Amino acid sequence: THFGFSTVPLAEKQTLVDEVFHKVAARYDLMNDLMSGGLHRLWKEALVTQLNPPRSRAFRHLDVAGGTGDVAFRIIEAGGPQTRVSVLDINGSMLAVGRERAAARGHAAQLDFIEANAEALPLTEGSFDGYTIAFGIRNVPRIDRALAEAFRVLGRGGRFLCLEFSSVDLPGLDRIYDLYSFNVIPPMGRLVTGEAEPYRYLVESIRKFPKPEAFAAMIREAGFARVTHRPLSGGIAAIHSGWKL
Ligand code: SAM
Repeated sequence: THFGFSTVPLAEKQTLVDEVFHKVAARYDLMNDLMSGGLHRLWKEALVTQLNPPRSRAFRHLDVAGGTGDVAFRIIEAGGPQTRVSVLDINGSMLAVGRERAAARGHAAQLDFIEANAEALPLTEGSFDGYTIAFGIRNVPRIDRALAEAFRVLGRGGRFLCLEFSSVDLPGLDRIYDLYSFNVIPPMGRLVTGEAEPYRYLVESIRKFPKPEAFAAMIREAGFARVTHRPLSGGIAAIHSGWKL
C-alpha cells in the first residue's frame, strides 16, 4: 500500500505516523545510526550543549516526541542529579523502548514517561524550565498547536529548542542529499525493518516541512522571544531556539 501522505487529512496523518513508529520502534535507534551515518548523535549533542542544563540547581525539562529517550538521557548526563526529564510521546511502543533503555542506563529515577499528544499536553501551565523536540515536530499534524502548548507549559525564562531536518542549501550537497534520500533511505529501511514505506514517508515529511525562516516565524507567532536558528551539517538539520520571557 502507498500512504500518499501529501493528500491525507490531518486527523488521518497522525494515525499513519503512529503506524510508522509502532512498526519501527524496536529498530529505531539502529536505523537512526545507519541512515544518518551517526550524525544524529552530533546534532543531539549540539542541542544539549545549547540547552546547557544547570548543574548547580534543579532543572525540570520536557522532551516532547522523546521516543526512545535519546535526548532525555543526554540532558540528564549534562545536567546531573538535579535534572528531571519528562519524556512525552504519542506512541507507546517508542516509550516502551525508552523505559527499557532508561533502566539499563540507571536513569530511571530522574525520568518519567508520558504517553500523550504534543498538540494537547496533559501538563500544568508554567511547569517546566526547558522544552525540547527532536525530529518530532515535523510529524505533528498541527504544528501551531504544538508550539502554543510548548509556550504554555514553560515558565517565564523557559527555553524552547527544536532540532529538526531542515533545508540543504550548499550547492552540490543538495544533489547528493536528494539522491541519498530517494535512492538509499527507503531501500535501507526495507533491508533493516522489512518495510520501505515508512522511510518514503520520512523523506516526504522532511521535504514538506516549512523552510527555516517560515518555521522561525511560527515560533514567534506562538509567543516566543529572541527566536533564532542555526543550520547543522550544511542545513541537513537545524536547531531553532526561543525563550518565554
Ligand atoms: N526525539 C527522538 C529522537 O530524536 O530520536 C524520536 C524522534 S522520532 C523521528 C519521532 C517521534 O515523534 C516518534 O516517537 C513519534 O511517536 C512521535 N510523535 C509523532 N507524532 C506525535 C505527536 N502528535 N505528539 C507526540 N509525539 C509524536
